[in-house]
Amino acid sequence: MTGPGNTGRRAVIIGGSMAGLFAGNILHRMGWQVDLYERVGDSLSARGAGIAAHPQSLPLLAAAGIRDDRSIGVPVIGRAAYGLDGEAIERFSYPQQLTSWSRVYSLLKQAFPAARYHAGRELVEVTQSAHEVTARFADGAAVEGDLLIGADGIRSTVRRIFAPDIVPRYSGYVAWRGLVDEADIPEGHRQELFQWFGFCFPRNGELVGYPIPGADEAVAVGTRRYNFLWYRRASEHQELRDLLTDERGRLHEGSIPPPLIRRTHLDRLRDDARALLPPQFADVVHQTSQLLFQPIYDVRSEQLVFGRVALIGDAAFVARPHVGIGVLKAGEDAQALAQAVSANEGVMAGLGRYQDERLPLGQSAVSFAQRLGAFLENGDEHPACTPEAGVTHGDIIRKTARADYAASLD
Ligand SMILES: Cc1cc2nc3c(=O)[nH]c(=O)nc-3n(C[C@H](O)[C@H](O)[C@H](O)COP(=O)(O)OP(=O)(O)OC[C@H]3O[C@@H](n4cnc5c(N)ncnc54)[C@H](O)[C@@H]3O)c2cc1C
Repeated sequence: MTGPGNTGRRAVIIGGSMAGLFAGNILHRMGWQVDLYERVGDSLSARGAGIAAHPQSLPLLAAAGIRDDRSIGVPVIGRAAYGLDGEAIERFSYPQQLTSWSRVYSLLKQAFPAARYHAGRELVEVTQSAHEVTARFADGAAVEGDLLIGADGIRSTVRRIFAPDIVPRYSGYVAWRGLVDEADIPEGHRQELFQWFGFCFPRNGELVGYPIPGADEAVAVGTRRYNFLWYRRASEHQELRDLLTDERGRLHEGSIPPPLIRRTHLDRLRDDARALLPPQFADVVHQTSQLLFQPIYDVRSEQLVFGRVALIGDAAFVARPHVGIGVLKAGEDAQALAQAVSANEGVMAGLGRYQDERLPLGQSAVSFAQRLGAFLENGDEHPACTPEAGVTHGDIIRKTARADYAASLD
């Protein structure tokens, strides 16, 4: 490895979240001069409270300068699906560490040189010549680089400039989410919930729940939290708009701050929890002090490289959370890009290689996640509820355990 800044190559990264920090850390350690620009002025808030660590996660973190950290998450022994009476109807062994978005983000942020992380800087324009690329910011400043990386998320400005036709497509459902302190989970349910990555399939929906580290990232028994996602259908033009409208009648485009979600929606969710969910999950929903929801979208790019500009992470592709690979894919995109542009063949040839490698994988991940969520989108009863379909809960939860999105289309 060469020392930071001594290859003479300059990377400008837009977006200081997962993908941007992975790319920044890896390129910095490969000797690039890296500057990272993030629109948000403060520390970022969690984009997904809980995330699964995959076998590939630790080598990726190591490449980003984070040493093997065995306390990264909370271990579970496998996956389990529960019926309405609360009894397990399927189980299989799948040991895994579950961690929190904020834990991974803070490790990546600490590893990146603070002087090169420019918070409160919003990209508005990109221009390029044969030799360099220029980024312009809302404050009027401009910077140049040999490479510009668009790591600016689902509503990427970089993607809008170069591929305006690629826009997020609403899936037809939202994920209601919440976190509960371990101490607030009724004792009778605690051991089961904290040992298994759990699923249940209420009518026209799916709930996924698992333990994650506590608020201060503690992983000791008694200090952890329980994280859940409850996917529920919401038609785009009626129900979603209604969910996004606050008590004063104001419609919030894209997402609504949790404290502004109308009481009537929260009450309905809690009532439905009692009617539709196994008792342990209904309790979790009722113990959650701050319920929130996120509409679920797909983003499927047809091109990742535009001259000296490359897209990575959610700016490139958004696969629905059923596959649980958003952060892993952000890290793998970043590593593949850093390796390709650092090879002897030069930046431009490396960018071509990056696109050839990552475009089919990203498209495959989006398609796989769409298939896992198709029953939510179409509003059908889950195939598992119709025995003649020959699909069991076990089949479904086994598929969600696959992090190998390269081979996920079989
Ligand atoms: C409900 C839900 C559950 C999820 N669960 C999981 C899970 O279990 N496992 C998992 O791996 N992933 C999960 N994800 C996905 C995961 O959160 C994302 O894939 C990941 O955060 C993507 O990181 P990113 O850096 O590409 O984008 P983001 O985290 O969105 O970051 C983009 C950054 O770019 C900045 N930015 C945007 N525009 C500009 C601009 N013009 N100038 C400067 N900066 C800009 C933004 O402020 C932001 O900080 C989940 C997502 C959702 C919605």
